[in-house]
Amino acid sequence: MKFTKILSLVLAIMMLFVLVSCGNTNDEGKDTDTDTSAVSDSDTVADTDAETPSDDTIVMATNAYFPPYEYYEGETIIGIDAEIAAEIAKKLGKTLVIEDMEFNSITTAVNEGSVDFGMAGMTITEDRLLEVDFSSSYANGVQVIIVKEDSPITTVDDLYSEGASYKVGVQLGTTGDTYSSDDFGADRVVQYVTGNEAVLALAGGSVDCVIIDNEPAKAYVEANEGLKILDTTYADEDYAICVKKGNTELLDQINAAIVELTEDGTIDAIIDKYIK
Ligand code: GLN
Repeated sequence: MKFTKILSLVLAIMMLFVLVSCGNTNDEGKDTDTDTSAVSDSDTVADTDAETPSDDTIVMATNAYFPPYEYYEGETIIGIDAEIAAEIAKKLGKTLVIEDMEFNSITTAVNEGSVDFGMAGMTITEDRLLEVDFSSSYANGVQVIIVKEDSPITTVDDLYSEGASYKVGVQLGTTGDTYSSDDFGADRVVQYVTGNEAVLALAGGSVDCVIIDNEPAKAYVEANEGLKILDTTYADEDYAICVKKGNTELLDQINAAIVELTEDGTIDAIIDKYIK
C-alpha cells in the first residue's frame, strides 16, 4: 500500500473515532444540540441514573412501552411524547434526556427530583394531583377494552353485570388499573408491569380482557392475532406532563411552550405523524 493510502486510512480511522466520541457525548446528554426525533438509548437511560441533572439538560421520565406515545425503535425512544418533549426542551434551550422506568415510579421520580418531569401518556387524575402538578393537556386518550375475537364480552356493560367474574388485565398504576379496581373490585383485576404483558396474558387466556388506552391498544391488537378492541368506551381522559409539586417555574415554562407548539401546529403535526 502506498504511504498516502495508509495516511488516508489512518485519518479515516481517526475521524471515525472522533465521530464515535461525539456520539457518546450526545448519549450522555451533554451535547447542546436538540434533536427533535431524539432521544435516548438504553445507555442514556442507565447513565442518567448516576447523573445529577445538569443545567443544559432536562430529564424526562417515561415508560417506553406505550406506543405511539413512547416506544423503542432499536435503542432509541421515539413517539409522540418523545417528540413533543424534544420541542419543549428546545424552547427551554435544553437537551432532552429520557429516562425509561416503570410507569408506577414516574411520579415518585419527579417528586424526588431525580428527573425534571414525567411524560408518559399520563392522565390527569384527582389522585395524581395530590402528588404532582400537571401542565395543560396536550392530547386526549380513551380507555378501551381489548378482548379475544370470540369473547363473550361484547360491551363494557358485560363487565359490570351481576355475577360477572371476568378477569381484567391492566398495566400497574395506570388509570385502567385504578378505575377497574374501583369498578370491579381488586380481586378481578390482574396487574402487569407493561401493557404488553397484560395483552400477552389475554392472548394466553390468563385474563378475559385488558383495559388500556386506545392508541397502544391498537398497536397491541395489530401485533397479536385473534384480539379485537370493543367498540365501547370505558373512560375519556386528558394527557399532561407532570412536574414536582410546587415547581411553578418549570410548569409555567412547559405551559408556555405547549401554547406555542399548539398555536404553530407543531403538536398536531407530531400527533398526525404517529396516529393515522
Ligand atoms: N393514560 C394512562 C394513565 O395515565 C396510561 C398511561 C401509560 O400506561 N403510560 O394511567
